Amino acid sequence: MDKKILLIDSDSEQRKNIVRVLETHGYAVKTMETTNALERATRVEHPDLILCNMMLPDSDGVTVCRRLGSDAQTRCIPIILLSEEDCDGQNLLAMEAGATAHLAMFSAAEELLQSVQTALVDRVFAEVWGCRGSIPAPERATGRYGGNTTCITVLMPGGHRIILDAGTGLRLFGNSVHATPPLLFHLCLSHFHWDHIQGIPFFKHLYVPNNEIIIYGPADSDEAIYERMQGQMGSDYFPISIDALQSSVRYVAIGEKSFDILNARVSTLRANHPGPTVLYRVDVGDKSVVFAPDNEIPPPSTDPELADVARRVADFAQGADLLIHDCMYSAASYESHRGWGHTAGAALAAVAAEAQVQRVLLFHHSPDDDDGAVEAIHDEFRTALRDDTIGSEPAREGVCYAL
Ligand SMILES: [Zn+2]
Ligand SMILES: [Zn+2]
Repeated sequence: MDKKILLIDSDSEQRKNIVRVLETHGYAVKTMETTNALERATRVEHPDLILCNMMLPDSDGVTVCRRLGSDAQTRCIPIILLSEEDCDGQNLLAMEAGATAHLAMFSAAEELLQSVQTALVDRVFAEVWGCRGSIPAPERATGRYGGNTTCITVLMPGGHRIILDAGTGLRLFGNSVHATPPLLFHLCLSHFHWDHIQGIPFFKHLYVPNNEIIIYGPADSDEAIYERMQGQMGSDYFPISIDALQSSVRYVAIGEKSFDILNARVSTLRANHPGPTVLYRVDVGDKSVVFAPDNEIPPPSTDPELADVARRVADFAQGADLLIHDCMYSAASYESHRGWGHTAGAALAAVAAEAQVQRVLLFHHSPDDDDGAVEAIHDEFRTALRDDTIGSEPAREGVCYAL
């Protein structure tokens, strides 16, 4: 069935253009000129998407977003705001009020279509931008699993994303975003080891005025996260300082806790890894993904304290649709790397079975492992798992996994 879109715009020329583009691509579009008509139509028609001009004769886009967002009947309907190019500040406000996206006054049909398609996504996806551990491996770029270090985005209904980790894959993700600024990003860091933060100075949206980036990470204070980034961009290591960032960056220190980002419930668990490190669980509606890029689960049947790690992780991941977990080592290589903070297949298999997850992505591939070695680790995992109901594969850069 055609997706139903309501369009409110008092500029008749622009209205006609938008309707023409959308109808050509199979969308059913209904237009209106007042917010009263829009609100009435929204309740009656249950549209899949609303396109709303920021400037309306009887109201404005921010107010429309807030009103529809505060009503349980309408709050899940994605809203794209259309605005004049000079009202950037208002648009950031609007995104914070719950708008899915902002487009500058209808300029390119392609951009409009891309935003509409993204906003109409009604499932949850995990997009892999990098799944290597430790250091980028350019020699793996042409292989099946890619060479960038860890970065995942969780794409939610309405087109919002949560970014998990900021390895070199973050640059790819940033380059894929073409929406008109100002943009709002939520970036959750598992920890501050190189391979998880190398992409930060290369995330181009940090250098765009009026963009807003909120960075969450395990630290004692918000200031401590800022200091780590300041150190990363210190003159001994990087040519420009943190002062060159033109976007507004907010730092949020987290321990073990649960909090909301957009329409997702985000929970954290302390990882078994050197230095303060957390695992994330993101619950969106009835879908859930657990992100555990660096976490050492000791082999089954070791001492009780270590067995406790496996139990805690299994509880945390209980029933998840997707478990993205560190599986860097083969059984043989684990033996010479105990205590380095990473896991081998049998230990992960025990946790996946205990947690009864739907699917596992083996993650944090060693930069020294070619495709065959990565797959051999997956084979060890499958052999130990002995549960055909759980799907699994090594995580692959560039793949979007539906939950
Ligand atoms: Zn790592
Ligand atoms: Zn690490």
